[in-house]
Amino acid sequence: MNQKDQLTDHFRIDAPHKKAFARLRIATVEDLLYHLPARYEDITDITSVSGLVKGQDAIVYGQIGGLKSRRAWKSKRPIAEGWIEDGSARIKVMWFNQQYIAKMLTDGAYVKMVGKVTGSEGKLYIANPEVEHLDNLPIDRHDSIFQNTEAVDDTIYPVYRETKGVTSKWFFHTVQKCFAAGILDTVRDPIPHSILKRYNLPELATALQWIHTPKKAEHAESARKRFAFEEVFYIQAQKAMEREAANAATTYQFKTTKKHIKEFTDRFPFKLTNSQNNAIAEILKNFNGKHAMGRLLEGDVGSGKTAVAATTAYAVATSRPPEGSKNNVNKVGPCNDSSTRSDLVEYDAGIPTVTDLDWGNLQVAYMAPTEILAKQHFESFIEYFHHLPIQIGLITGSGCMKFPSKVDPTKPTKISRAQLLKWVKNGEIPILIGTHALMYKSVEFKHLGYVIIDEQHRFGTNQRKALAKKDERMAHLLSMTATPIPRTLALTVYGDLDITLLDEMPSGRKPIITKVIGPGQEKEMYDHVRNELEDGRQAYVICPRIDEPDPDKASALRLKSVKAEAERLKKHVFQDYEIAVLHGKMKPAEKDAVMKRFSDHEIDILVATSVVEVGVNVPNATNIIIEGAERFGLSQLHQLRGRVIRGTHQPYCFAVSESKSEKTKERLKALTTAKNGFELAEHDLQFRGSGELYGAKQSGLTDLGMKAIKNMKLVEAARTEAQKLVAKDTELDKHPLIKAKVAQIGETLHME
Ligand code: ADP
Ligand code: MG
Repeated sequence: MNQKDQLTDHFRIDAPHKKAFARLRIATVEDLLYHLPARYEDITDITSVSGLVKGQDAIVYGQIGGLKSRRAWKSKRPIAEGWIEDGSARIKVMWFNQQYIAKMLTDGAYVKMVGKVTGSEGKLYIANPEVEHLDNLPIDRHDSIFQNTEAVDDTIYPVYRETKGVTSKWFFHTVQKCFAAGILDTVRDPIPHSILKRYNLPELATALQWIHTPKKAEHAESARKRFAFEEVFYIQAQKAMEREAANAATTYQFKTTKKHIKEFTDRFPFKLTNSQNNAIAEILKNFNGKHAMGRLLEGDVGSGKTAVAATTAYAVATSRPPEGSKNNVNKVGPCNDSSTRSDLVEYDAGIPTVTDLDWGNLQVAYMAPTEILAKQHFESFIEYFHHLPIQIGLITGSGCMKFPSKVDPTKPTKISRAQLLKWVKNGEIPILIGTHALMYKSVEFKHLGYVIIDEQHRFGTNQRKALAKKDERMAHLLSMTATPIPRTLALTVYGDLDITLLDEMPSGRKPIITKVIGPGQEKEMYDHVRNELEDGRQAYVICPRIDEPDPDKASALRLKSVKAEAERLKKHVFQDYEIAVLHGKMKPAEKDAVMKRFSDHEIDILVATSVVEVGVNVPNATNIIIEGAERFGLSQLHQLRGRVIRGTHQPYCFAVSESKSEKTKERLKALTTAKNGFELAEHDLQFRGSGELYGAKQSGLTDLGMKAIKNMKLVEAARTEAQKLVAKDTELDKHPLIKAKVAQIGETLHME
């Protein structure tokens, strides 16, 4: 047996297994060995039902039955009940005020239950147990999966992530068969010995043995660390290679004077923050560097990323491409070379600002994730550029525009797509703003020097690359995000980019007042918001769902839905105000129309799901109520409340949670104390697990890698080592095993 062999060479794999393996991307023996246990169970903790005693914290595996809900006889409290049965006996289980749990279960389901044994002798029951669904019982006292397996110390055993068709047991036994066939004597470790030694990590063969059949918990831990390191290492190696490749491409190198920039920024109705100035300086330095810039600009909503984008776009749009690589003439400002003008469409000579237009200058593409945002950027850019002879184009799925209009130079005008594309191609329009439509093949530039992407996490890595490569030279790339990503995750997901933080809010901004609203405190909140509405402000109400699929009013989840909540508010709370809904199931045109009405203050209260566009700018909306706040990560809540800090009025955020849990309240409290989004993201990473973190999905990390991200030292070590290796061996030809692994990551990401 060899690690590269197909599993089918050695095992009988039936059709359902095959499908499951395709899903899990398991094909070879090696893939199987790298399908690591999700966790370990300690058999000594498990109790058989017949042995349960009052007061015990029990862990029981069994089948559930007899489910029903009713109301308590006297208190009328809703109760759900049933029983759990293992090989030895059955015991009653009861949930108080949580009958929805029973609704999520079905008779006959296999579950793991954790809860306290209460009641009286002879009438014992488990109260409010936590329930975990299982595809089958991992352990059966009468048919232990570990019977006759000497490999395992009889207390710890691995539990594998199951999938339809393949059980944890199957994984366990098959891995053991591979071990028995001597696979560990033949595996080759891709990670150089010296690196493993430096960080005290076990060699591959040892690590595999330890992770699949640990004799001690420490062994399993040590092995996990190695595999986590390995995973992050490959990703870092891939990013390092991408960076090397980008560095190898030629780019536009040009210089801008301080004075020139100042002419532009002096017109802003505000003073730039130090953070903004630093960011601009860093970017301008990159423009004058040998390599194409790859930079991530991370800043909370309202930190002023657009001003940074506009200033740097100005530097590009007023610069000429170098004429030939040697003769690097970087004139700043309009050029006087008129040779390109002869074939161009006639232009309204009556507009003085347009006559200076230089069609040989570098161009900027600015991509936003939605039409609403693209239009908003278009409008901001008009504000910033209207005094200059720089035309701005807008391209979206539903149409194209250009500023200035021939007829009225103070306004933008609609133009045909064909016309816009022509002007972009011949360089007449130096700044093009748009949605995904920017990426279509038909959009060609004359000299695309700079690509700006707003809210990067919504675009895949490949889309980003596609845009940056629209010119034979590699365009400089600025990715902007308001998503607070923990540093370790950013270093991994955006490992090929330099990171700049805008961690300073413009002065004079009123910090948002955030309140956590528990059961019974709603009235106070509604009174406050009503006062605000009376003063002419507007409000958002965010709900976790769109429709009301569960007509059962008794449902304890009580997840508010956009539609029902809008009706309720109209009927009982805000009778005198205009209320509208906005959610992801609406058509783009419908959404736009609602947003426009909200923006024009024809609507006072917008009830929406959390998926509605972040970053939408309605300065008069200064209140946000977030229902079901406990369901969101802190960084997501932070993101949501960011919508109300646009204006000059005092903003308020209400995080509403019906949860009585102290832990939940404690967690939500962090919203009122954290200094910025980054702090909250770190909080999420440490306390919630990283699966729901922004950026987690794009990272291509497995669960194990995700846990590794909590460990800054590990991530930095993997990054340093990978960069060192790639610097010496750019194509990884001297490390074919690593190269193969890195190529695999590439494939996975391309499949997104
Ligand atoms: P975001 O980082 O969320 O994209 P924007 O660029 O939209 O933020 O800026 C939010 C608001 O703050 C805009 O109205 C902008 O004009 C304003 N702004 C930007 N920079 C400053 C500053 N240095 N001082 C005051 N206001 C600023
Ligand atoms: Mg923005």
